[in-house]
Amino acid sequence: MLVALLPGDGIGPEVITQARRVLDALAIDGLVFEEALVGGAAYKATGHPLPADTLALAKRADAILFGAVGDPDCDALERHLRPEQAILGLRKELSLFANLRPATLFPELADASALRPEVASQIDMVIVRELNGDVYFGEKGMRKTATGKREGYDIMSYDEDEVRRIARVGFETAMARDKKLCSVDKANVLETSQLWRDVVIETHAEYPEVALSHMYVDNCAMQLVRNPGQFDVIVTGNLFGDILSDQASMCAGSIGMLPSASLDAAQKGLYEPIHGSAPDIAGQGKANPLATILSAAMMLRYSLGLPEQADRIEAAVAKALSGGARSPDLGGTHSTREMGDAVLAALT
Ligand code: ATP
Ligand code: MG
Repeated sequence: MLVALLPGDGIGPEVITQARRVLDALAIDGLVFEEALVGGAAYKATGHPLPADTLALAKRADAILFGAVGDPDCDALERHLRPEQAILGLRKELSLFANLRPATLFPELADASALRPEVASQIDMVIVRELNGDVYFGEKGMRKTATGKREGYDIMSYDEDEVRRIARVGFETAMARDKKLCSVDKANVLETSQLWRDVVIETHAEYPEVALSHMYVDNCAMQLVRNPGQFDVIVTGNLFGDILSDQASMCAGSIGMLPSASLDAAQKGLYEPIHGSAPDIAGQGKANPLATILSAAMMLRYSLGLPEQADRIEAAVAKALSGGARSPDLGGTHSTREMGDAVLAALT
């Protein structure tokens, strides 16, 4: 099994180093790593943020562990040369259409949540976000109206196959958890959402054991804060998922804690922390590596068929937190490496 390691920019290499230490400690038979440049680091070395070699490695690998891209030195570049294009390019080239973002509050971190501890402690959900369609990929442009005003437009569209394949990921995810799926849309206003709802209901016939509910996105935003414990798996479109998953992450504590997976139809995936390259703290040993370590656990579970090893990592993270491991974002003084040490020491 080949894992492509793409550390990227800023704190990316620092957090990937710690995830690699944890993976090495598991001593998994037949697991090999190959590393390549991506983002600003790749641009500086090759003139392109997603070099052909890196893309070829990503295609060849069984899974990709990605750090972060983003480099202030590249801010003035044309859009297609910017570091962020690398992650968009990978999602598109590899057809990674399903983004899974678990939001779980480790009980030890109840004080770090934006919510009251008794509400925050109920958070244990996965948001399944569609990643290849919606308003982000529809026709867009800027034009002049008949009266000469500037008008911007972005077409929102989904076809039924796109909805069906993400709905199935939502139902499958629910089947592996509490068999409860909430589909989020804006079907009272949007045609795309009406289709979304129809197709999710049709797909439900394949998963009769799952309890399906529907919620409008505005209500969902409110419910995530009011009573997040009611959610187990949420499935939603690209735009709504973008917003709701960031909201859920703050309810669940620090941005340095949350992992994500982006999967294709064959469960091949790219795994990355939800945070960015954090140039403000890069090189200072302050980054929390747990989001990346937990992303490595997701990789073992979803792409490499090693759920027990994934459980071991997650248990070690919980134990490290109970033992008092706290990087600065969690209100402590542990360095990036000391956070890694704490997880390694807790591995059983
Ligand atoms: P992107 O556009 O790539 O998502 P961003 O501008 O949203 O990036 P991040 O890089 O995610 O920003 O950082 C947002 C804030 O969170 C910064 O102040 C950063 O220092 C902090 N931060 C991000 N990741 C971590 C981490 N792993 N540990 C500690 N702090 C972090
Ligand atoms: Mg961000």
